[in-house]
Amino acid sequence: MPLTLYNTLTRSKEAFEPMDPDRVTMYVCGPTVYNHAHIGNARPAVVFDVLFRLLRHHYPRVDYARNITDIDDKIIKAAADQGAPIEKVAQHYTRIYREDMAALNVLEPTVEPHATEHVADMIDMIGKLIDSGHAYAADGHVLFDVVSFADYGRLSRRSLEDMVAGARVEVADYKRHPGDFVLWKPSSDDQPGWDSPWGRGRPGWHLECSVMAERHLGETIDIHGGGNDLIFPHHENEIAQSVCGHGGADLARFWLHNGFLTVDETKMSKSLGNILTVHQLLGDYPGEVLRLVLLTAHYRQPLDWSDEAIDQARRTLDRIYRCLAELNEIGLDGSAVEPPEAFLAALDDDLNTPRALSVISDLVSQANRVDSVADKRALKAALLGCGRVIGLMQLDPTEWFQGSGAETAGLDESEIEALIANRAAAKSERDFATADRIRDELAARGIVLEDRPEGTSWRVES
Ligand code: AMP
Ligand code: ZN
Repeated sequence: MPLTLYNTLTRSKEAFEPMDPDRVTMYVCGPTVYNHAHIGNARPAVVFDVLFRLLRHHYPRVDYARNITDIDDKIIKAAADQGAPIEKVAQHYTRIYREDMAALNVLEPTVEPHATEHVADMIDMIGKLIDSGHAYAADGHVLFDVVSFADYGRLSRRSLEDMVAGARVEVADYKRHPGDFVLWKPSSDDQPGWDSPWGRGRPGWHLECSVMAERHLGETIDIHGGGNDLIFPHHENEIAQSVCGHGGADLARFWLHNGFLTVDETKMSKSLGNILTVHQLLGDYPGEVLRLVLLTAHYRQPLDWSDEAIDQARRTLDRIYRCLAELNEIGLDGSAVEPPEAFLAALDDDLNTPRALSVISDLVSQANRVDSVADKRALKAALLGCGRVIGLMQLDPTEWFQGSGAETAGLDESEIEALIANRAAAKSERDFATADRIRDELAARGIVLEDRPEGTSWRVES
């Protein structure tokens, strides 16, 4: 079955065929680096990571760009609040973002362009838009002239009148039309800025993505993604700039948008004080648990973040890793690590991760049932194949059970290790009564010891 994707542009599922099967191109709007990413921000990163992995499974080369917005009024304000230079603030949160995403098993994109490294190209594109009559300079700003682009509003299906009536646009007296948006704005002396034909200033946010997508992937790309809050105005404006700057060539053939994440059924927002940062959550839960929660709902549906969802995801992963631990001694013996057809069919159906996860659950049930080594081997290879495409099961089972943060009845890792060392000392002194007592004490607290020639390891009983 071919890969089908829901295209926001046509509001329908369409068969996906890349323009060039030897090089699939995808661009996803990345973070503005002025604070810690919250778990809602992680949703597009994880969802499009699954798509990246799936595309790589199907095609020999996928060029995936996810940008870093490192110049923006929010960063300027954060730097002023902290009394720190803007570059330092941006670098700090970029580093944390990368670490957080790696902990969620999000692969690095092929390129991670930074807006500040592309300002000359942005100035170039503005020049082209002015020359072709789609932009004008006014009062130190350069604005895109929305009336000049007949297709404006096609992605979001809004008319110019709707936009103005819905007050989704900023009114300013230097604009010809209230819907005109900023390509370039002036910087005061204490603000970061670049010299340009329109004076010292900085680029508008929408322009950054148009320029970086073209620079790294080409004028027309296969897939452009982001959260559904970006459809308007961000993606609508990206289309206007790119199509007019490229003499009519489309920016992207497929537009994909993930639904929003809520917390306890309420929108996650700073003003409500219910922001959960990925960084905080990683202090309490393994990254794979967080990733799994993000994949339990179909990407276009809303997803409610809750303690129950986290507990359920941990139990699911405990079950999968327990099965893999049982299969530990089974070598793959050259078997191809390939996901089964049913799993691929689920993901090929507009990234149906809930269905793909139920295929994994079935494979675990089968693996727990079969007796022959050949069956176990085939199921292990299939499970690991699924793990590779969905970005789960990336740990060794022992590592999982030691680091899963599962209930250890109040004992932390160093206390467990100390008890294991005491037990080893007791054994070496042939004090087996003490050694057994320590084993039983740990068992009573849900810690199972496994004695191997290379030493004793432990895992949380589940
Ligand atoms: P921002 O840094 O605010 O531009 O957001 C980065 C990405 O996260 C964008 O693709 C947003 O659409 C997405 N995003 C922000 N909040 C949420 C949320 N609560 N649920 C899902 N996606 C979100
Ligand atoms: Zn963008």
